[in-house]
Amino acid sequence: MATIFQKIISREIPAEIIFEDDTCISIKDIEPQAPFHALIIPKKLIARVGEVDDEDEQILGHLLLTAKKIAQEQNLDQGFRIVINNGSDGGETVPHLHVHLLGGRKLTWPPG
Ligand code: AMP
Repeated sequence: MATIFQKIISREIPAEIIFEDDTCISIKDIEPQAPFHALIIPKKLIARVGEVDDEDEQILGHLLLTAKKIAQEQNLDQGFRIVINNGSDGGETVPHLHVHLLGGRKLTWPPG
């Protein structure tokens, strides 16, 4: 069964797409936790960081580079946070790897 993010990639369900290339798509999070909250999602279905293969190295790097470029485009000059939740204790709710990019307010630490 396709993940919700695969359905967004295939345009089966709508999303606010802010970036797309051959490797990934970036969308606004439907439940933003900061003034700016986007997800960067690989088009290849990788469930989570805990299940990546060595061959995914380029994809993983691409996700972070894309996050940095979006942060620049969004003028997150005061800083931003990148989060990847892994597994149930990590807060993962969608089993399709995604990088959260959050910014636009002072974020607290540690996370809950
Ligand atoms: P995680 O809890 O790390 O797995 O993150 C999943 C994220 O996907 C959450 O922040 C959700 O708000 C977000 N999300 C779930 N469904 C959608 C959707 N249809 N469009 C945009 N974001 C979504």
